[in-house]
Amino acid sequence: MTEQRKGDAFFNAQRERFFAVGFDDLRLRTDYSEILPEEVVLQSKFSRNVGLQIPIVSSPMDTVTEAKMAIAMAMAGGLGIIHKGLSADRQAAQIAKVKHCLNAFISDPICISADNKVADVLRMKEEKDYGFSSFPVVNNDNKFIGIVTGNDFEFCHNPKEMIIADIMSTNALVTDSTDLNQAYQIMRKNHKKILPVVDDGGRLLGIYTWTDIKRIMSNNASGFNLDSAGTLIVGAAIGVHEDDYERTHLLADKGVNVFVVDTAHGDSLKVIKMVRYLKKHYPDVDVVAGNISEGESAKRLVVAGVDGIRVGQGPGSICTTRIVSGIGHPQVSAIHECAKAIRGSGVPVCADGGIKYSGDITIAIGAGADNVMLGNLLAGTTEAPGEVIFRDGKALKLYRGMGSLGAMLDNKASRERYGQTGKTSDKLVPEGVEGAIQFKGEVANILFQLIGGLKSGMGYTGANDLATLQQIANFYLVSVAGMQESHPHDLYFVKDAPNYRR
Ligand code: 5GP
Repeated sequence: MTEQRKGDAFFNAQRERFFAVGFDDLRLRTDYSEILPEEVVLQSKFSRNVGLQIPIVSSPMDTVTEAKMAIAMAMAGGLGIIHKGLSADRQAAQIAKVKHCLNAFISDPICISADNKVADVLRMKEEKDYGFSSFPVVNNDNKFIGIVTGNDFEFCHNPKEMIIADIMSTNALVTDSTDLNQAYQIMRKNHKKILPVVDDGGRLLGIYTWTDIKRIMSNNASGFNLDSAGTLIVGAAIGVHEDDYERTHLLADKGVNVFVVDTAHGDSLKVIKMVRYLKKHYPDVDVVAGNISEGESAKRLVVAGVDGIRVGQGPGSICTTRIVSGIGHPQVSAIHECAKAIRGSGVPVCADGGIKYSGDITIAIGAGADNVMLGNLLAGTTEAPGEVIFRDGKALKLYRGMGSLGAMLDNKASRERYGQTGKTSDKLVPEGVEGAIQFKGEVANILFQLIGGLKSGMGYTGANDLATLQQIANFYLVSVAGMQESHPHDLYFVKDAPNYRR
């Protein structure tokens, strides 16, 4: 028999009237509490074997998650899913970037030649978006001959004319040891931020970097979301068409931890086929599939073998699916129904889309989700792909639906997510829009506020961990007047707060 939870009666009562609720229709009830917000535990799961230190995942969208966001998310204890609007090679390279990020020993560093023009190296650094400025210099036999660092570039007065040989240091300290402790001691004693490792013949084997080694030695990685190999956990979105099957091995090769079968309608034959294929060929990589919004769909995906499900059809801030197609299950009821349908299976539920404030995260988890996926709230940050643009004196970044006209014109994966074959604007039926969002700075600050709000909600309800919140959460249906009362009111103007904007 399905285990009963306190909130079930609330949702059952709505369902009996064929009524479904979204985030603004309800609030959590407070209860006796001995819990202080800073005491709560936020650990959760994205899928059977992929854990989370905080229950927040960044969405596989081309304006939200590439390597930079995935790294920041995993370092904050969450998870990023690299979008599939990239070519297979580029998506795999993004996974590799996340996986290499914490490697104290970098076995395949980007090397340059002594006769490269300084300006060319600077251009490459910018084009490839490298977050580092030190490069080992090698000859044709991969023999280490020198090193250039940020300072050398900084003080180069004529990068167009000068070559790397003119600015590199040729007396760099090197080691032949790959032992982490020894490398740490050598770098500390000699104040070196880069330590090349060479073999007997002087050929470069790799480099140690001080930032990474220091972090590992001082155990600063404690809040990070790491897998058993000590690398940052990362996911990759994957479609359900012929070329997606070819893409899977590239992603698995780079060490992806979880595949997210990313479609607008997860309760469909092609999704189930892809789930079975992935489970058969990559037993060590978890598979999350979606999106769905009905309990029966959740059950079918669990039978197909998924390790996690993604719930949300049309609640997203950039979605028009419900308006264009007429379908849709308001999100909080959808989360509850899907989670209840597979309760006891051990398969976690991701609540994807429609989250506007931190309080919505508490509500989503109270309704049965194990984690939430965010697009809008993480878009517009430094780590989101894209440039800051200025309009009407405001700093903005683009944010668009993967089913928007622009995204569908730009990439096949977006067209396929919405089952479309057209290639021109008059042959496509968008299910999302394109827009802009205020530039918000570093994602770590956004996550701090979101987590702060969730912890506060847990304090009010008396839940010391997320499983307890799911168990004891109970709700009030709120009227429009009740919701108006909940927002700030009767002020001449409201200053933006770090966790509130309307
Ligand atoms: P948000 O956090 O912005 O409210 O919602 C993000 C979610 O919306 C994504 O994780 C994804 O599931 C969904 N989504 C992204 N692009 C589109 C789109 O163009 N159309 C629809 N229907 N959903 C989208």
